[in-house]
Amino acid sequence: MTVGGQLGLYVHIPFCAHKCSYCDFPSRAGQMALRAPYVDALTVEIAARGQQLGNPAVDTVYIGGGTPSLLQPEQMARVLEALRAHFRLTADCEISCEANPGMLSPRFLTALGAGGVNRLSLGAQSADAGLLTLLGRRHDWAQVQRAVALARQHGFDNINIDLMMGIPGQTEAIWRDTLEAALALHLEHLSCYGLIVEEGTPLAERVAVGELSLPPEEAERAMYDHTLHRLAQAGYIQYEVSNFALPGRACRHNINCWQRVDYAGMGAAAHSLLGGDTRVSNPPDIADYLSGRPPQVQRLGAEERMFESVMLGLRMTAGVDMAAFERMHGQSFEQAYGSITASSVEQGLAEYTPEGFFRLTRRGMDVMNAVLLDFL
Ligand code: SF4
Repeated sequence: MTVGGQLGLYVHIPFCAHKCSYCDFPSRAGQMALRAPYVDALTVEIAARGQQLGNPAVDTVYIGGGTPSLLQPEQMARVLEALRAHFRLTADCEISCEANPGMLSPRFLTALGAGGVNRLSLGAQSADAGLLTLLGRRHDWAQVQRAVALARQHGFDNINIDLMMGIPGQTEAIWRDTLEAALALHLEHLSCYGLIVEEGTPLAERVAVGELSLPPEEAERAMYDHTLHRLAQAGYIQYEVSNFALPGRACRHNINCWQRVDYAGMGAAAHSLLGGDTRVSNPPDIADYLSGRPPQVQRLGAEERMFESVMLGLRMTAGVDMAAFERMHGQSFEQAYGSITASSVEQGLAEYTPEGFFRLTRRGMDVMNAVLLDFL
């Protein structure tokens, strides 16, 4: 049962050629031999999920990782066929696939196009060769340029690249150069994330022992401020803290996730949100997934569901849609949180809009975590 009749799909491909120094995503390097059994298991899960959910209509699909472009073209074609066979993909279904710019082949792009993929997302991160090395990325900017050109030749007219701010050694000037290099690619979408140093990663160790230091907070803020200004000037609309798109090119799958629309996740480590109140988590380990270990199922309480709506909704520049909140949770936003929004509104961190949204102001976006603490 889905909420509001909408459902997105997420498909996780957990393989990577090697592990980047900052990465704590569920991905494994050096397990390429498992790709064939993994695709077998994944297509079985896709069939089972489609049947279990009653072959529902689906309007967004996101194939992420890991590195989906590490699958053989034939393997990716099988995954896409299985999705089409077991779910009713709408005519305008947005189908995104992540890819590594250093390993994107014409055959792989042909398989994506034939399978209906219409949005490509490339992990570029930086145009600076030194920073790419520090991050453990094994591609350079010339490969990003070639990957974009190749994707265009294969008909992809909706392309995103991920870029990263706040890398050790990154100055505002280096970030500006990266942003200009990205703008020169004339893409439809840019994701500009702040680096999060995740515990247990090689990068975190180097920061902990003082071998690397993060840019000062003011420098990072200056990078972000420049991003907002420069991308607006170039015609991109910011629709989420880190995401910018040309008009009409915002990623529908991500917006649905931030609005807590149901999604079914398939593959190792994939999560689902079903019926608005049930979180299903597949085993993160590839071997466990292949051995058929069942997912963990968690029922979310009313307060947790409402907090998720606020936490995710406030990431978006539009904010929390209060009418949608009431439909989803059976009580008004005012009833649930009216007593605690006053202080953030008074401080100029948040505001109610005439269109019925509660959103953070620019200043509020800078201190989002502090505002969210009130809601907790
Ligand atoms: S390519 Fe992505 S998923 Fe793979 S190791 Fe690097 S950051 Fe992690």
